[in-house]
Amino acid sequence: MKPTSDLTYAVFQKINAERCNTSFKHKLFDWPPEIWALAIAGEAGELCNLVKKIVRGDFTLDEKRQAILEEVADVMTYCDLLMSRLDANTCVELERKFNIVSKRVGYPSLPWRILHKIS
Ligand SMILES: [Mg+2]
Repeated sequence: MKPTSDLTYAVFQKINAERCNTSFKHKLFDWPPEIWALAIAGEAGELCNLVKKIVRGDFTLDEKRQAILEEVADVMTYCDLLMSRLDANTCVELERKFNIVSKRVGYPSLPWRILHKIS
């Protein structure tokens, strides 16, 4: 099935947790947050291993672009599961942290940009 760009973090978070609870060998709350954090690190390691091979000259970025995108998606998927495991809303926490950094660097907060329909 072709991926759609209509997916929102809110929908993704719900389905991601549901998939974990129904189709993984463990449920979301079977793993403590520490294990989810280590899972993120594991996927980040897979990403870095690909980058290492590109830097080393084994492959070009173009050759491994899709594989890199998939590892980034793995990291994001586990980050979302950790958010769920911590009873947090991924969208809320992304917006909250984005605004903290935006304030620090003098950039408009997310609600301002959404209200003014600036993409
Ligand atoms: Mg992976």
